[in-house]
Amino acid sequence: MKRIKVLKFGGTSMGSADAIQKVIAIIKRPRQDARIVAIIVSAMSGVTNDLIKIAKLASTKEPKYRVVLKNLERRHIEVARELVGSRYRAKTLALVDDLFRQLESIVEGTYRLQELSPAGMAYIMSFGERLSGHILTGALLHRRVRCEYLNARRVITTDEQFESAAVDFVSTEKSIRAHFKKHTPLQIVTGFIGATPDGKTTTLGRGGSDYSAAIVGSALGAKAIEIWTDVSGIMTADPRRVPEAQVVPELSFEEAGELAYFGAKVLHPKTILPAMRKSIPVKVLNTFKPDDSGTTIVPNFAQRRKESHTVDALTFKSPVIAVHVNSPKFYDGSGFIARIFEIFNAHRTSIDVVATSVTSVSVTIDDEKNLPKITKALRELGDVSVDRGKAIICAVGGGVNAAGVAGRMFTVLGQNKIAVEMISQASSGVSMTFVVNTRDAEKALKVLHKEYIEA
Ligand code: ADP
Ligand code: ASP
Ligand code: MG
Repeated sequence: MKRIKVLKFGGTSMGSADAIQKVIAIIKRPRQDARIVAIIVSAMSGVTNDLIKIAKLASTKEPKYRVVLKNLERRHIEVARELVGSRYRAKTLALVDDLFRQLESIVEGTYRLQELSPAGMAYIMSFGERLSGHILTGALLHRRVRCEYLNARRVITTDEQFESAAVDFVSTEKSIRAHFKKHTPLQIVTGFIGATPDGKTTTLGRGGSDYSAAIVGSALGAKAIEIWTDVSGIMTADPRRVPEAQVVPELSFEEAGELAYFGAKVLHPKTILPAMRKSIPVKVLNTFKPDDSGTTIVPNFAQRRKESHTVDALTFKSPVIAVHVNSPKFYDGSGFIARIFEIFNAHRTSIDVVATSVTSVSVTIDDEKNLPKITKALRELGDVSVDRGKAIICAVGGGVNAAGVAGRMFTVLGQNKIAVEMISQASSGVSMTFVVNTRDAEKALKVLHKEYIEA
């Protein structure tokens, strides 16, 4: 493994001139443990949401979009003026201006046509990272850091699912390696975006800059991928819901993957896989407290399994929908589950939790889009019922399947009068997942946090 690393800075870290000063200080820190070859940037905080708002207002013929767009432009110009000194100021401001003129023209077109395709939306959403990328590049150049701006559309190739595109790893890794071979200065890379082979802009899904960092870091065989954010690591629970949450110093890829998948927003769920494939540790660190040691995600689940026999962190995902299928016909077990899974798969709807008995199968999904078609197909197999307003709670640890962990968990929930439906425990011991009513979810999280972490 090479002694190089890639760093990613999220929306809050890029959110103001003051915050970007902290980012620059981190990049310029002396005595780094590896050479930084790429910085992946998010849009400034709130900008992606504003871009979506602008696109939606324009497509519904609301001239108000102009106000939001003007404010967005003002915010970027102010930050660029403050951060980029005279030598690079004019150049950076010209780049920012050029981006806003391009954005204005596409949004103007949307307004006139009252039409917004997924491709158009992805293109509009790409401006946030392109703006913050140019501003950081100008600010670093002004401080004599040799660097270049890289629009990730040049190296990350995806399919055409514009809202959350799938990456073509073969061509992407090849392009990234070729690019970094030719361009030796530090690369400032736009997070979150990619392009189809014929050059249409795509996004990797909300919060996808973490994934961009993992894609670049793994293609380059980096020694570490550092995700710099606004909390000091992955915590035992979402700190906004559980103020007592503490930083978890170390997690395995498997545990972090489960947490991210089941709602811990601190890491995009797709981040883990590229890093895991190449065994590259991912660190989660705090831009505003750079000396805190953060969380290190490491490929040592076997080791953690030996050491931890309890719940190390909790998360929840809500709302989800439970779908139940009941059919006495399938008493002989002939492919009931397989046929149910096929139906969900055919309608591109992924299943999170599954619970089964001989004649019934319950699953949860979070995407209702194709539910009417799914239930219609399922009715050919048996009685179908749909329960909305559910939440999935997920507890992870090195060995949550150790004797007594589950018993203690459901006793505590029972004492707090929280009814549990659908329980699923990974045989690897990485997680315990169950479903409760949404109104009980936060309470469940809190009582389990108290029981396992604060005790
Ligand atoms: P960034 O813009 O840096 O990508 P995000 O807002 O996407 O940051 O993610 C960081 C936020 O995730 C934190 O501020 C915190 O509120 C939230 N969060 C949710 N669950 C967790 C968790 N288990 N550990 C840490 N942070 C969490
Ligand atoms: N700016 C994008 C978003 O808000 C991507 C990211 O921040 O990771 O979703
Ligand atoms: Mg994020």
